[in-house]
Amino acid sequence: MSRPSHAEIMAGVERIVRDAAPLVDDHERREVFPEELVRRACALGLPDLVVGEPTCAEPTSLFCGAIERLATCWLALAESVHLQTLAACGLAEFGSEDLRARVLPKLATGDLIGANCLSEPPAGSDLSLIETAATRHGDAYVLNGVKSWVGHAGVAGLLNVYARTSNAGLGGITCFLVDAGADGVQVMPRVAKMGVRALPTAQIRFTDVAVPAVRVVGRVNRGMVVAQSFFIQGRLGIAACAVGLAQAAMRRAVTYARQRRQFSSEIMGFQGISFLLADMSVEIEAARQLLHRACRERDAGGPDTELLAAQAKLFATDTAMKVTTNAVQVLGAYGYTTDEPVERWMREAKLLQIIEGTNQIQRVAVASRLHKFTGEN
Ligand SMILES: Cc1cc2nc3c(=O)[nH]c(=O)nc-3n(C[C@H](O)[C@H](O)[C@H](O)COP(=O)(O)OP(=O)(O)OC[C@H]3O[C@@H](n4cnc5c(N)ncnc54)[C@H](O)[C@@H]3O)c2cc1C
Repeated sequence: MSRPSHAEIMAGVERIVRDAAPLVDDHERREVFPEELVRRACALGLPDLVVGEPTCAEPTSLFCGAIERLATCWLALAESVHLQTLAACGLAEFGSEDLRARVLPKLATGDLIGANCLSEPPAGSDLSLIETAATRHGDAYVLNGVKSWVGHAGVAGLLNVYARTSNAGLGGITCFLVDAGADGVQVMPRVAKMGVRALPTAQIRFTDVAVPAVRVVGRVNRGMVVAQSFFIQGRLGIAACAVGLAQAAMRRAVTYARQRRQFSSEIMGFQGISFLLADMSVEIEAARQLLHRACRERDAGGPDTELLAAQAKLFATDTAMKVTTNAVQVLGAYGYTTDEPVERWMREAKLLQIIEGTNQIQRVAVASRLHKFTGEN
């Protein structure tokens, strides 16, 4: 089967955006996961751009452009497609031939929803604190522990579970592919979140869950190497979500500023407002360009991919937070109501500064490479 072209993918994304737009408010309010739309986005070939054989010159840029467009409409939808892609990354790079053949096509088309289970109650930014234990018994491992903040919990059929197989800190963690329906897997009630409520997040408890040893992804005790395969993509995908969210907020703020009149003038005529909007446009474009610079570096296999991805995630998500906050300001009292989407976008932007490595952790990553700017290696 031939892969869709760049133009076909973006046209398909536009059709999804058109169909998604009328559902957003209702699904966010009732916390309904847009599974069919996620499937359609996957079936367009979006995860395949990241985990499949490259079929165009800049697949990561195309993927992030598509995620940005989805996020202008609905962050939960964009983030879900992003999560689905991340759930396939480790398997694509490190899975056995048999596992890849049986599982990857279903993840890539969205027929099987996937999730990554790293975080635990004690283990947030510091994953060396992972406690979930995997003990070998014959041809299988038995998993016991609790994973927290699992995106897609309750809708995912497949879980990438990172569990401890030795006491060697980050060097003692292994990645397991676990069926969400296996005996002993219990999805806890959804977390009540500030935003992005259509995308379910919950703890998952593992009690004596037997996982065949053939479902280890990569090598035993090398789970963090597997996780690294999606850390960079994670930063890029969230940066794309942030650019889309900020773009939506700016568009609404500009439209409002041209309609709203005070003191016999549209408020756009006040420099205090027009400069806010001008700054938004500059910062969003700068974030977009930095993101695509990072995407091109990744597609070219360049040495600065990790640094640029951290810079892009940090700058784009801080920009989204600033732009959405200022969009509420431009709309005044109306911006502070649920009649307007800007208050939701402001709540959603906050999440992007926390997930896929908090922005403090991105600064740690950038700071660790500052020597590069002195001309040293
Ligand atoms: C809605 C949502 C969805 C999520 N989805 C998933 C998922 O699908 N799978 C998954 O595994 N996890 C998921 N997470 C968890 C997410 O990855 C973690 O929240 C994140 O890694 C940070 O961990 P923490 O919240 O425990 O914060 P902590 O690590 O406890 O940090 C608390 C504060 O301290 C700061 N801090 C920590 N270390 C440093 C440092 N070295 N220097 C400076 N500051 C520091 C942090 O930036 C933060 O401000 C999700 C979280 C949310 C909210």
